[in-house]
Amino acid sequence: MAKYLAALDQGTTSSRAVIFTEDGKMVASFNQEFPQHYPHPGWVEHDPKDILDSQVTSLREAVRLSGVNPADIAAIGITNQRETTFLWDRRTGECVGNAIVWQCRRTAKMVDELTARGCGDMIREKTGLVPDAYFSGTKLKWMLDYYNLHERAEKGELCFGTADSFLCWNLLEGRPHVTDATNAGRTMLFNLHTQDWDEELLKLLDVPRACLPDVVDSSGIIGMLDPAVLGCRIPVAGMAGDQHASLFGQACLKPGDVKNTYGTGCFMLMNTGDQPVRSENGLLTTMAWRIGGKPTYALEGSVFMGGATIQWLRDELKIISHAAESEALAQSVPGTGGVYLVPAFTGLGAPWWDSYSRGTLIGMTRGTGRPQIVRAALEAIAYQSADLMEAMIRDCGHRPEQLQVDGGASANAFLMQFQADISAMPVVRPRVLETTALGAALLAGLGVGMYTDLTETAAVWQKDLEFTPKMDEATRLLELGGWHRAVERSLGFAR
Ligand code: ADP
Repeated sequence: MAKYLAALDQGTTSSRAVIFTEDGKMVASFNQEFPQHYPHPGWVEHDPKDILDSQVTSLREAVRLSGVNPADIAAIGITNQRETTFLWDRRTGECVGNAIVWQCRRTAKMVDELTARGCGDMIREKTGLVPDAYFSGTKLKWMLDYYNLHERAEKGELCFGTADSFLCWNLLEGRPHVTDATNAGRTMLFNLHTQDWDEELLKLLDVPRACLPDVVDSSGIIGMLDPAVLGCRIPVAGMAGDQHASLFGQACLKPGDVKNTYGTGCFMLMNTGDQPVRSENGLLTTMAWRIGGKPTYALEGSVFMGGATIQWLRDELKIISHAAESEALAQSVPGTGGVYLVPAFTGLGAPWWDSYSRGTLIGMTRGTGRPQIVRAALEAIAYQSADLMEAMIRDCGHRPEQLQVDGGASANAFLMQFQADISAMPVVRPRVLETTALGAALLAGLGVGMYTDLTETAAVWQKDLEFTPKMDEATRLLELGGWHRAVERSLGFAR
């Protein structure tokens, strides 16, 4: 009787595979990093071969380490870095060039042109996205233009896909050309309301439908893993972009449920149920997942400098030697003494959206030292997340009962307590912090009927720790006020 689940987690800097038991315990995992390519300033690429090789290696190694017989793996789920764009030959499988990574800014001008032509609102309305070079649409157009491939794409000789598509095409029997609705929703070509590629957007970006994958549900059998990978056929039955998988892995299944992932950046997603909510506060509208043909939507906001602020303390300021050290240092003082760090190193995202704001350290006195600055850096991660939470509450008119957290920096107890305090909301950390991989595994388990419904997948989620708010309201408002005054001073500085 097959009783394990496997997740492939194809990330930006590494490919990972995790083997779970049916009740969501991690049996083994393996991570393999791959090189990043920066051919020009602001450009980021991945070699598709590295992506495929590292993913296959990590799956084989995770299975080997787990000691599990591959025949006992009931299903595989795929989750992935979103938006990164691949284009390959339908006959040979050869990619036309390196994948263009989500971080790559090469199509920023193309997006400026679209907005100058007044297309911004239409794109916003149909896709839920704020037009940006971040999303796949302009990256695909760039590839078709640069390699002069419009005609071949029109004839159906080429396949476009994000990492999920690329892995399915290469690892599944019969080479299905598919993507799931969450990944499709990040292309700027997918209409959230019709759940289909949008003709007007395809025309706008000069992308032929013939090169686009079929859009499948996030849960359900997509195909069988080619036996060349693990020696037996295994159903691949779940697929979702990383942040969506993590929302599912956190069991944020009801409207108003919200999670924040504290990684290099922070990604906050709130389930908004079966209706897409249009944000008035600079958030994105996105898919949560699509199951049984039924879309569930989410609001999304991100903090550019999350854990990366702590990397900056370590690598540039060199005032800590490892990230975990920040916790004790922050706790060694009762407060920052009025110091605020606004880590707007690359501008600020929602709800500010100012690409000209820059890093600002303000409020220092003669007594300001290392602990205060480290504490201000950690607090900044929480303040930025609190601003996202407030934007979500304003957009959906509902205050969540709690914030569920995961990601590397959620290990920091000071940060989590300060988040609870400044958001006046309990912060809940689950036992399994690998919620992205877990979410993909659960979607796959649901897809093969290992779980009969969402109540059963939700039962896998287990609370580890809860941080309850302890700050009095007057102090909270005072601290938040200080933060917002600091943010104001950082805005527009590089203009
Ligand atoms: P990603 O998936 O984006 O690579 P991770 O979830 O692995 O990120 O988290 C790594 C980030 O978390 C790094 O930016 C690191 O600085 C930060 N981080 C890790 N541990 C801690 C800690 N104990 N306190 C604060 N930040 C931390």
